[in-house]
Amino acid sequence: MTLDAALDLLRTTYGYEQFRGQQAAAIEAALAGRDALVLMPTGGGKSLCFQIPAQLRRGTAIVISPLIALMQDQVSALTELGIEAAYLNSSLSVEQQREVTRRFAAGELQLLYIAPERLLQPRTLEYLASAEIALIAIDEAHCVSQWGHDFRQDYLGLHVLKTHFPDTPLMALTATADERTQREIEYRLNLLDPLRLTSSFDRPNIQYHVSIRSDARKQLIRFLAQHKEDSGIIYCLSRKKVESTAAWLVDRGIDALPYHAGLSAQLRQHHQQRFLREDKVVIVATIAFGMGIDKPDVRFVFHMDLPKSIEAYYQETGRAGRDGEPAVAHMVYGLQDVVRLNQMLGDSPMSDQQKQVERHKLNALLGWCEVTDCRRQALLGYFEEAAPGNCGNCDNCLAPPQTRDASEDAQKFLSAVYRSGQRFGAAHVIDILRGQASDKVKQHGHEQLSTFGIGKELGAQAWQAIARQLLVQGYLFNDFEHYGALKLTELSRSLLRGEATFTCREQLAVAPERQARSAKAGVSDADRQLWEALRERRKQLAQERDIPPYMIFHDATLMQMMEERPRTLQALGFIQGVGATKLEQYGEAFLTVIAANP
Ligand code: ADP
Ligand code: ZN
Repeated sequence: MTLDAALDLLRTTYGYEQFRGQQAAAIEAALAGRDALVLMPTGGGKSLCFQIPAQLRRGTAIVISPLIALMQDQVSALTELGIEAAYLNSSLSVEQQREVTRRFAAGELQLLYIAPERLLQPRTLEYLASAEIALIAIDEAHCVSQWGHDFRQDYLGLHVLKTHFPDTPLMALTATADERTQREIEYRLNLLDPLRLTSSFDRPNIQYHVSIRSDARKQLIRFLAQHKEDSGIIYCLSRKKVESTAAWLVDRGIDALPYHAGLSAQLRQHHQQRFLREDKVVIVATIAFGMGIDKPDVRFVFHMDLPKSIEAYYQETGRAGRDGEPAVAHMVYGLQDVVRLNQMLGDSPMSDQQKQVERHKLNALLGWCEVTDCRRQALLGYFEEAAPGNCGNCDNCLAPPQTRDASEDAQKFLSAVYRSGQRFGAAHVIDILRGQASDKVKQHGHEQLSTFGIGKELGAQAWQAIARQLLVQGYLFNDFEHYGALKLTELSRSLLRGEATFTCREQLAVAPERQARSAKAGVSDADRQLWEALRERRKQLAQERDIPPYMIFHDATLMQMMEERPRTLQALGFIQGVGATKLEQYGEAFLTVIAANP
């Protein structure tokens, strides 16, 4: 079978013009009956890689997915496209399950989604193997890896697939897998000479910003003022902070909803549904929120606290802009985060070795926060990917930070740490430097130290920045065996002796966001009316059908309708994202709206 049929399907059913990245190669492999390992970043378009061969090969495609919510989402989206799909999981009644099995046996299904534990029941395996299977797709394949960050016991059993379905092509798909995890996936799934398709991890449409926390809420509200039209996620470290931040935002007229593991399942479900189905809803959440959220038009992710690692940061920010439209990832952080995360690590039941790995990852993230060159380059570098040059779409590229030689300040700080006995945290050391005779200073007689008051020329914040960067650059460390006291390192001696220089970035300046934000933010007043009308119609249709609006059409599709103002079904059919089934279902409704808003 050739790729022509696949391209045909892409155009008629999905309404898209071209394959993206490695999609064509993945589809070709499946059509040829070859196993494949497909690595694509979030939003890269993994689903099409198996959905299209599922429709072109004989039999039903089995899709293994770990998350019930995700299955439902994909099946609804496929149904909207006029593709026969169903899922089998514990959320279905016995009746409903029977109906799905009937459709499967009758050969009516093009795709069947199933959870691994269900698939692996001997009865299910036997029954599936008795029918014709087009291919087996294993979504979130990194869950099979014990080295990955999301291991699931159930996935381990999937090694039997090759035995039960020796002639069926397997396709493993994931958005996160380093070299080692890739090899482990291939091994554990028994993939046979798989075609390995890797893609860049870059998410060029996401603009990265990091700033120092001064007044986090003020910073947040200023940020939100630029995103009034947008849906987004705000991440906080603790449940308490989630609750208080959400309540505070609601008081300021923002449609903010809390989400964390301490809320009832019902309330969480309700908030998630509102986020998926309504416009301009902001979710304030702990990292409990996000897995299985496929909402394509999340326009921003705001971190109120530092994540645990670059991997976590990449995954959390990756939930923005899946639709490829401009999106922003903004983080505020401060010295307290470093102390708190280190403290949490210290208290956790992990082995010492694991703690060391985690600490290393935290330091890598801190180092990244303080970089003065292109953030994207540094991020990709961490994932061992070379980037061509400055991206022009991160804070450092948009407003290059100032750096200065701060060796002398660093010496003062290190001396104050040394003279006070390496037993205190940054706040106390800064009091000493600035000549503040606090109770604690007096209690320890530190106003007698030679370093008392030698740093009056800098404010407390500037000293905090120096402390943070000394930590990040390894001139100091937090000793958590001793209440997080700052201690000198081997490196600090060379600085104290004047044999090394310490370059420090000036306070992270707040780079303005580039104006090329979400497409809809650029809607002119003249178009505004039509834009709102199109969205309103989409919302009504979505409500009638009990699905999220983006499953009807994406924003980008509505944008194009607004720009081209098609008058006929045929013209409407040329717009990206309008496939045959959707044209038939919704074409007239949207043409009516366009005609009514000239
Ligand atoms: P992933 O699973 O890799 O995160 P999805 O499969 O959900 O990504 O696809 C992300 C978005 O990109 C979806 O809205 C999808 O419709 C769209 N998309 C996928 N392939 C194409 C394509 N070839 N052209 C245009 N849009 C595409
Ligand atoms: Zn950049």
